[in-house]
Amino acid sequence: MTGFRGATGAPGTTGTPGTTGTHLGMPAFPEAAREAVRDGVLRANLRHATHTIRDKRARAVAELADWDRLRAAGKAVKDHTLRHLDRYLLQLEAAVTAAGGTVHWAVDADEANRIVTELVRATGEREVVKVKSMATQEIGLNEALEAAGITAYETDLAELIVQLGHDRPSHILVPAIHRNRSEIRDLFRAEMGRWGRPAPDPLGDDPRELAEAARLHLREKFLRAKVAVSGANFMVAETGTIVVLESEGNGRMCLTLPETLISVVGIEKVVPTFRDLEIFLQTLPRSSTAERMNPYTTMWTGTTDGDGPSAFHLVLLDNGRTDTLADETGRQALRCIRCSACLNVCPVYERAGGHAYGSVYPGPIGAVLSPQLRGTASEIDASLPYASTLCGACYDVCPVAIDIPDILVHLRERVAQGGPATRDGIRVRIRPARRHTAERAAVRASRLLLDRPGALRAGERLLARARRLAPRRLPGPGRAWTDTRELPLLPAESFRDWWTRERGTSQ
Ligand code: SF4
Repeated sequence: MTGFRGATGAPGTTGTPGTTGTHLGMPAFPEAAREAVRDGVLRANLRHATHTIRDKRARAVAELADWDRLRAAGKAVKDHTLRHLDRYLLQLEAAVTAAGGTVHWAVDADEANRIVTELVRATGEREVVKVKSMATQEIGLNEALEAAGITAYETDLAELIVQLGHDRPSHILVPAIHRNRSEIRDLFRAEMGRWGRPAPDPLGDDPRELAEAARLHLREKFLRAKVAVSGANFMVAETGTIVVLESEGNGRMCLTLPETLISVVGIEKVVPTFRDLEIFLQTLPRSSTAERMNPYTTMWTGTTDGDGPSAFHLVLLDNGRTDTLADETGRQALRCIRCSACLNVCPVYERAGGHAYGSVYPGPIGAVLSPQLRGTASEIDASLPYASTLCGACYDVCPVAIDIPDILVHLRERVAQGGPATRDGIRVRIRPARRHTAERAAVRASRLLLDRPGALRAGERLLARARRLAPRRLPGPGRAWTDTRELPLLPAESFRDWWTRERGTSQ
């Protein structure tokens, strides 16, 4: 574990067990990752989990002869929807309203939190159950509710583990991936009783025993809760249907038992037609849990008398998504269906873990999504585009073909060089980050040299003659680079001289 554990305070001192919370104040990726890679238990947990999931995923995907076509179809549907997002969102709003739901638009996290808090207050309740939702983590909803005297209980098993541990999620699909079984058992024993039904005594670390302890603990909450808060995997514009995919059935309880359901969903989750789900209901389970189909698919359209919640509110969250849409290269990150396949193959994620990214969205997708949603002004966000080896494994596995390496390079350029970007709907010019002064000076110097062939030739010859004097390590700002690499040996002869000697002519 990294030093972020417990960052939200101890139980009994802050009220709500804190799953979410701000990532402000966290160190930038290089420092956080340096600390994380020293944690042998964390690395072992991550290695075991990511390798198991990635191998199973590869087998599940290989079963489908038309995987490449499904991938292309998913990409095409998402691209089309993003191009016409305004139209599909209005269509969605009309369909949800016609089916008895209420749509709220939230431009940022504060507005979304305010809307949800007011909706919960209006019910007179002080507790809500939650089904896993990255959007609510992104906006820090649990903390906002806590400030309003409302307790939010996570009901996804992994989220529950994170919440009981006053921890932060470190994986999109398996938020407690950094914990092993004995850690979870100890946590259940120590914490469950403080938030509801205690863990059975004795409690072993067998997965079935742990799942049963969680089931009993959560059942009490499901039967009592009058209000639920959820996210969604998809929203269908033509019917106003909201879709949640999950593996445990806890989400189904949340979505059907309470009287009021509030769903907070990013605007990019809309798809045009019900038929489009056919693609994603094949690609998402195989990419995420290596299952042919996911165990629970819950769909609801507005409200139905005598069946499920009697009030349904949909909070459509922008929070930087429209700005991201304005970036031609970066907008493809909005295709993401949060399968987490890119995390499980990433050599950087496998070693550094999810907390090092200082973002709700860790791994390769976090490295491109967070700096776009939040901007690159903070040290954390400016460091994220560099949290990659650019090996391309994330692109290979992505079921909607997001070219993550391409966006990483694009964002690196934005950080180092600055340039145009859209923030809060306004076109602005980002200033270059301070730390990249040496890089920019080197690029400027090489441009000067490359524009002058005569000077370049003289320089090459000079270097070839002085090659024995060339250091193996760079001084000053270049030192960090050569701390982990050897400088290449200078050739005895430049390419131009070799060409002239071999061909008898200069090119
Ligand atoms: S970027 Fe692609 S692989 Fe990664 S979580 Fe999103 S959809 Fe899955």
